[in-house]
Amino acid sequence: MILDANRLFPADSETRSIAGRLYETIQGLPIISPHGHTDPRWFAENEAFANPAALLIQPDHYIFRMLYSQGISLESLGISPFDGVAASVDPKEVWRIFAKNYYLFRGTPTRLWLDYSFENQFGLTKRLSSENADEYYEIIAKRLETPEFRPRALYEQFNIEVLSTTDSPLDTLEYHKAIRKSGWRGRILPTFRPDSLVDADYIGFLDNIQKLGQITGEDIGTWKGYLNALRNRRAFFKSMGATATDQGHPTALTADLDPNVAASLYARILSGRSVPEEQELFRAQMLTEMAGMSVEDGLTMQLHPGSVRNHNRHLYERFGRDKGADIPSPTEYVRALQPLLNRYGNDQRLTFILFTLDETTFSRELAPLAGHYPSLKLGPPWWFHDSPEGMMRFRDQATETAGFYNTVGFNDDTRALLSIPARHDVARRIDCAFLARLVAEHRLDEDEAFEVIQDLTVNLVRKAYKL
Ligand SMILES: [Zn+2]
Repeated sequence: MILDANRLFPADSETRSIAGRLYETIQGLPIISPHGHTDPRWFAENEAFANPAALLIQPDHYIFRMLYSQGISLESLGISPFDGVAASVDPKEVWRIFAKNYYLFRGTPTRLWLDYSFENQFGLTKRLSSENADEYYEIIAKRLETPEFRPRALYEQFNIEVLSTTDSPLDTLEYHKAIRKSGWRGRILPTFRPDSLVDADYIGFLDNIQKLGQITGEDIGTWKGYLNALRNRRAFFKSMGATATDQGHPTALTADLDPNVAASLYARILSGRSVPEEQELFRAQMLTEMAGMSVEDGLTMQLHPGSVRNHNRHLYERFGRDKGADIPSPTEYVRALQPLLNRYGNDQRLTFILFTLDETTFSRELAPLAGHYPSLKLGPPWWFHDSPEGMMRFRDQATETAGFYNTVGFNDDTRALLSIPARHDVARRIDCAFLARLVAEHRLDEDEAFEVIQDLTVNLVRKAYKL
């Protein structure tokens, strides 16, 4: 077997057995996935995945960023550059490259997620290597043809209770509609992600605003009309089951401008002649506007700041976005959020979930903020920190100030469908390990730890995301 039953639990036997007892009580709970990037089309069309490389390698930027860092080209992994030459690489060849380099993932969460899938979903119990690459490929490819490996069957097999996608406000949500019409009982919900309409630096921003006007019939030439158009799309998303929004800004800056000043800033932005400082101020103002709309319509608000997107210009120009070249940068929250919090921070109708890629902010800024403002909650460790050590650091640094009850459970935040149960399992085990230590050190009674682990696994997620 590749997986040990006690993996990720503390090494000393007393704490380990407490962690094991806690884990037993939550192991079978349903998966609630309130934030992620799976494709609603999979569940609407319910077609088989093409091949092992297309399922496990090509959509996963965690995998190819590591391979790329060791000099393996994206073309050789079957990823096509813009400049014509479509990479017509045999998926079996892609798989062999991956297998040969599997050792690169030692010590990374990717290794944990993949081993979990290999063993639990494909019954593979020997570690992947060059020697068994073809055997792995054949077994996985065969399984993908079976009805149990269709997206809807996987959703059911994984015991998912609800799964949220991330969608542009301009999206017609046709796949979400098709899922609803189909009568299938899976709950796939859209999430309102307005970056393309509030960030003037976004590719196609001005065209997007025009489209927003066409779809909603609002006069986007005015500040009021633009805000109403966004309200209109939020209402549509809500009617399609959305319970949350998400914004991915470069910084956490917020602003609370006088409406006339905001209106003239919007006019500048719409003119297409705005400078970066105006664009930053506009994003800042739009965070506060979105918080106001969340107070009105009850959609939970999420903010994911601090990623410097497309850091590798050469790679970006050849392959586009989401190719593993986004790099975290320092992020400031305390002063940046104050304008928004002055306006809405005490309003209990608002649930505002903060994420970070800058771990130094957990104990210094985020836990103190979330441990004070009623509207604020701390999102789970995200992206580079969605790892055993990252999760442990999060609990270590945030719990003493924010407690457990200003956090919101786990997000898998994934594009890789098969990684969902693996990622939730890692999070559950780490929370059990953390709680076990508190119990062993007599900082928490065991009966309380049993309660907390239930809350972290399901109850806090349902509450924060209104699921
Ligand atoms: Zn995300």
